Amino acid sequence: MLCLVSIIFKLLTLRGSLAAFITGALTFYSFEWQGLVILAIFFLTSSILTKWKREVKIDYNAEPLEDKKGRTAGQVFANGGTSTLAAIAAIFMSDPVWLIVFAGALATATADTWASEIGILSKTKPFHLKEWRKVEAGLSGAVSGLGTIAAVIGAAAIGVSYYLLYDTSTFMVSIIIIFAGFFGNIADTLFGAWFEQKLYCQICKTETESKWHCKMKTVRIFGLPWVTNNLVNFSSTIIGALIAGGLYIWTVK
Ligand SMILES: [Zn+2]
Repeated sequence: MLCLVSIIFKLLTLRGSLAAFITGALTFYSFEWQGLVILAIFFLTSSILTKWKREVKIDYNAEPLEDKKGRTAGQVFANGGTSTLAAIAAIFMSDPVWLIVFAGALATATADTWASEIGILSKTKPFHLKEWRKVEAGLSGAVSGLGTIAAVIGAAAIGVSYYLLYDTSTFMVSIIIIFAGFFGNIADTLFGAWFEQKLYCQICKTETESKWHCKMKTVRIFGLPWVTNNLVNFSSTIIGALIAGGLYIWTVK
């Protein structure tokens, strides 16, 4: 279903659609239709927010390859990989904790996407945590007030959905999911600030996350080539999942 809907809206590449289909099938198998609804809330709101005010967000100097093709398989795994691993774990080990881990990972992915896509529209420049100064909007590792509020609302969207969808849900556990999503997003910002590779355009002399800028290949000025935004996103969903699962075992079980 989700896969079909995605193709219709042209939100994914072909391989991205295949990745989304596998994610959807495993989610449905382990966490039933409610799990699919939670996955859809993440996926559809993220896709809509990415397209929203796109003319303001697009850096016209950069080659907008990803914008043209939709979400790639790499992006699907970066944001949905951890929740899919929770669905796989639930097949082999029947335990309610996997649903909480699943929701914690998706709360992080949602908080992160909302923070990036809404935060980039902030009228004040974001503050970079490592460099301890204001930087251009859109760079990893920087925070803005607007982005932080968006992160809380994004995490809450998943926590509240979980609360409303599952008969077994409790208020306490939905708070745990929101908390996990928010702090998973903070981990994302910290990883982005300290570890993510930084690219630089030698033509217009600005820092960018794009491989291409001003029709030229950018140069890497910081970090390892494999520490990309996708890896940072994937790592932060693991943190969100661990916080959610850990707090659940600690407080509820
Ligand atoms: Zn440039």
